[in-house]
Amino acid sequence: MNSATTHDPESTPGGSPALDAIIIGAGLAGLYQLHCLRDRLGLSVQVLETGGGVGGTWYWNRYPGARCDSESHAYGFSFSEELMRDWDWTERFPEQKEILRYIDHFADRFDLRRSIRFNARVSAAHYNDATNRWEVRTASGESFNAKFLITAVGCLSAANVPTIAGLDSFQGQWYHTGQWPHEGVNFAGKRVGLIGTGSTGIQAAPVIAETAQHLSVFQRSPTYSVPARNAPWTAEFKRYVKENAAEIRRATHATPSGHPFANSERLALQTPPHERQAIYEAAWRKGGVEFRTAFGDIMLNKEANDTAAEFVRNKILQIVKDPVTAHKLTDIDHPYAGKRPPVDTDYYETFNRDNVSLVDVRAAPIEEITATGIRTRDGHYPLDIIVFATGYDALTGPLLRMDIRGRSGRLLADDWKDGPRSYLGLQMEGFPNLFTITGPGSPSVLTNMPVAIEQHSDWIADCIAHMRAQGLERIEPQAQAMGDWMLKVTEAASATLLSTATTSWYLGANVPGKPRVFMPYSGGMARYRKICADVATNGYEGFRFSS
Ligand code: NAP
Repeated sequence: MNSATTHDPESTPGGSPALDAIIIGAGLAGLYQLHCLRDRLGLSVQVLETGGGVGGTWYWNRYPGARCDSESHAYGFSFSEELMRDWDWTERFPEQKEILRYIDHFADRFDLRRSIRFNARVSAAHYNDATNRWEVRTASGESFNAKFLITAVGCLSAANVPTIAGLDSFQGQWYHTGQWPHEGVNFAGKRVGLIGTGSTGIQAAPVIAETAQHLSVFQRSPTYSVPARNAPWTAEFKRYVKENAAEIRRATHATPSGHPFANSERLALQTPPHERQAIYEAAWRKGGVEFRTAFGDIMLNKEANDTAAEFVRNKILQIVKDPVTAHKLTDIDHPYAGKRPPVDTDYYETFNRDNVSLVDVRAAPIEEITATGIRTRDGHYPLDIIVFATGYDALTGPLLRMDIRGRSGRLLADDWKDGPRSYLGLQMEGFPNLFTITGPGSPSVLTNMPVAIEQHSDWIADCIAHMRAQGLERIEPQAQAMGDWMLKVTEAASATLLSTATTSWYLGANVPGKPRVFMPYSGGMARYRKICADVATNGYEGFRFSS
């Protein structure tokens, strides 16, 4: 597979290896970028990874019920049809263990591990104007430097554990889902409190309830979930995947979401009510995130969206037997899919179990954590284990937790104090030769992630190849291009209902003090792919090179 010979890094006078590129993170993004740069371009590359193994999100998120909301046959790398054909996904929505096996397989197949330093958390990355190199330090004090720095740190990797008084005094165990112990957690006979009902909490609750003595779900904001309808793939479907790898790749490149299914052109508001109901019923029976594509106007028009929201609310009311619980689960404050829509396996059914209760912490907020449980304004809930499914400091958090400084010591955290600013979500003015895979300002979390990751990694590799061919040493965006792009990001969000869900993490609303800025580009992956390709074709329009 390798088309170029890899250079072994030489040492610089300071003793650290003189690398062409440093990649931060060994999840899907870091691994594929490594393959592109090392094996296609022949660069000397070092990957630095906090964890003890590859996998990123799928290395850390080992919580009960963790599985992917993208369909497995489209959740992976598509650059190699051979790789696509060689791997057999067992079920429609693969569980964490299976995805991690896939990523391990990818790392082995392309011999990637030899270029990765594990247990190496990057604490600082400073650009040196005089040498045009990035000087990177790890928390354990190691130093590296390279001409190019590529962050592949994930969008949802900085865990958000809310500040709740008394957590230190809790005498039971507590865990954040994104930092789950490798040995697992035994819930048998335990009183468990689960805080958070986003995609993660909704996946975890039914599985925890199977063994816990009692599960209390602390819900602040209810949301709309659609059944995943997960099932093993049939032999016939597996054959279809092998015979149609190119077609699946083409489909994921053609849609706004990077999923292999497009939005319907039908409009909810132009469909007679009984027909619309039948279409929603069929989409509900099929399950998965595809539900939101049932009509083309669901994300564009509030009235159309209301038809989807009402349909899902009615389903919840039908499933949940206790009317008070059903009411709390359906008292939803945002449009359907305005916040990232979860899919579930028996989430609502779980509330029909005798050992599960819903605690409404919007009505009676959590006041403190005590030695023995959680106290809300209404009462005290004795607990042995608390699970925080409270999400992430998304998109900017993983970058800003490092001390990143560009030209003349300019601090990224200062540049982003009013929200992230980038050109195409790929680069920032003032930070030469720094590329951010799925950075804020790119479609990232609004897509099937591997599709966005491949597109960015390929674009970055092509850009670096171009620079080498032209003898160019430095690239950074023009301030004007960056400003224009940020306007496009805001305009794209305003054209949909996404910007109306004011408590969404897309807007940074889940982290106290975080600027409220809609961070990902919501104009669609296919359109974005074309914009990036056109920028490159037009001589990297909007970027400035120097030699
Ligand atoms: P999330 O969507 O941000 O949900 C966090 C939950 O915790 C929300 O219900 C939030 O309530 C609640 N919460 C936060 N702080 C709280 C507090 N102090 N008190 C009470 N409740 C609090 O996080 P997530 O569920 O981990 O999901 C994050 C993203 O990860 C998803 O949107 C998705 O993109 C990705 N994900 C993907 C998959 C998959 O593909 N398989 C699975 C899981 C997650 P509010 O809404 O009121 O803030």
